[in-house]
Amino acid sequence: MKYKRILLKLSGESLMGDKQYGIDNTRVVQYAREIKAVFDAGVEIAIVVGGGNIFRGLSAEKSGMERAQADYMGMLATVINCMALQNALETIGTPTRLQSAIKMEQICEPFIRRRAMRHLEIGRIVIFGAGTGNPYFTTDTAASLRAIEIKADVVLKGTRVDGIYTADPEKDPTAQKYEEISFQEVYAKGLNVMDMTAITLCQENKLPIIVFDMNKPGNFMKIANGEAIGTLVR
Ligand code: UDP
Repeated sequence: MKYKRILLKLSGESLMGDKQYGIDNTRVVQYAREIKAVFDAGVEIAIVVGGGNIFRGLSAEKSGMERAQADYMGMLATVINCMALQNALETIGTPTRLQSAIKMEQICEPFIRRRAMRHLEIGRIVIFGAGTGNPYFTTDTAASLRAIEIKADVVLKGTRVDGIYTADPEKDPTAQKYEEISFQEVYAKGLNVMDMTAITLCQENKLPIIVFDMNKPGNFMKIANGEAIGTLVR
C-alpha cells in the first residue's frame, strides 16, 4: 500500500445516501466495508466525519439562531454520525475507538492525541467526533488538524464527485477535472475543495489532500494503493 497512515474525511451529507436528511445505514455499511478492506490491507486509518446531514451552524444562523450555539449543535451532530459509522465498522469486525473533541464520557473517549496514535499503532481505527471542538470551524479543518497531529501521510476527502473540477460538474457539463493542482492554484482560482483554514493548514504543513469519489466501490482501496484517481492537491 502506498500510505501507512491516512486520514479519511467523510462529509455528513455523504452518509445521507439518496435521502434528504439524516443517516442512510445502507450507505454507512457500504463505507464501512470499503474502509475495512483498506484496514485489512494494513493501512492505519483515522476518520473525521462531518455533520451537515443533521445540522449546520451556518444555516441555523441564517434562520436566526446564535452562531456559536448552533455550531455546538453541529458538533454534536457529527458525533451521531461517528457513532453510526463506528457501529457499522464494529458489526463487521473492525476494532474502533471514537474520540470526541467535546467530552461525552458515556459514549466515547475524549480526544487525546497520544492515545489516538497508540490506537492506530495497535490496530484500531480511530474516529474523531465533534470537529475541532470549537465553533466557527468546520470538520474539514478538523480533518486537516487531526491529520497533522497524528502525522498522517495524506488527507483523503471522500465526496460524491471524483475530484476537483474547473466548475461544479453537477451544474456545468463543460467542467474539466484536475489530476493534480497546487495549493496556490486552489487559492488563486477560488476552488471549492475544503474551506480556506483547512487548506492553509495542509499547505503550511506540507500535507497532501486527495479528493475522490467515495461512492464508487473499490475507489478507497485504489487511492490507498496510490492509484491516480481523484485530484491530488499539494
Ligand atoms: N462545527 C463546528 N466546529 C468544528 C466542526 C464543526 O462548529 O470544528 C459545526 C458547524 O456548525 C458545522 C457543523 O458542525 O456546520 C457540521 O460540520 P460540517 O459542516 O463541517 O460537516 P460536513 O459539511 O462535513 O457534513
